[in-house]
Amino acid sequence: MPTTIEIIQGDITTLAVDAIVNAANNTLLGGGGVDGAIHRAAGPQLLQECAGLGGCETGDAKITGGYMLPATHVIHTVGPVWHGGGQGEPELLNSAYRRCFEVAHRHGLKSIAFPAISAGVYGYPMREAAVIALETAQTVIGLYPELERIIFVQFNAGAQQVYKEAAARLGIA
Ligand code: ADP
Repeated sequence: MPTTIEIIQGDITTLAVDAIVNAANNTLLGGGGVDGAIHRAAGPQLLQECAGLGGCETGDAKITGGYMLPATHVIHTVGPVWHGGGQGEPELLNSAYRRCFEVAHRHGLKSIAFPAISAGVYGYPMREAAVIALETAQTVIGLYPELERIIFVQFNAGAQQVYKEAAARLGIA
């Protein structure tokens, strides 16, 4: 089955996929934004499992169970804080997405949903972040044949529009 890339608006915590991605911080001990929403929806057992992971480097990813979420797993990644773009931010954001795909592949996952990593509190400009997200997804198509669905979830209509425009420019979706 060919891999599809979907761009949808909504709350990532409601999706029944093999894994949702959490835009976490280096401690993996919870935070605001999508991280807070995921921990609230998954329940306290998620925090317990995260506490045993020893944190996560920026640009890396680690997997846990999904607990009370409809998703089976959570892949926690840490994107870069935006400092203007000259401090390796694009490479680190690319690495965060790539590592999520690698971890998903190692677990044989068929569907994965991403929020706009780094594009909230971490300040990464949405347009540039969307291009990196979509380009990285394009590179894994064909590489991981088991992967059926890559879903990019935006919390609001404005962000969704930005993703759709970026996808059109890249000839995706
Ligand atoms: P970061 O710290 O990596 O910037 P944030 O959680 O602050 O992460 O924001 C990342 C993106 O996730 C933002 O675009 C934000 O609007 C979005 N977001 C927040 N909550 C949710 C949710 N429940 N589902 C999907 N996206 C969400």
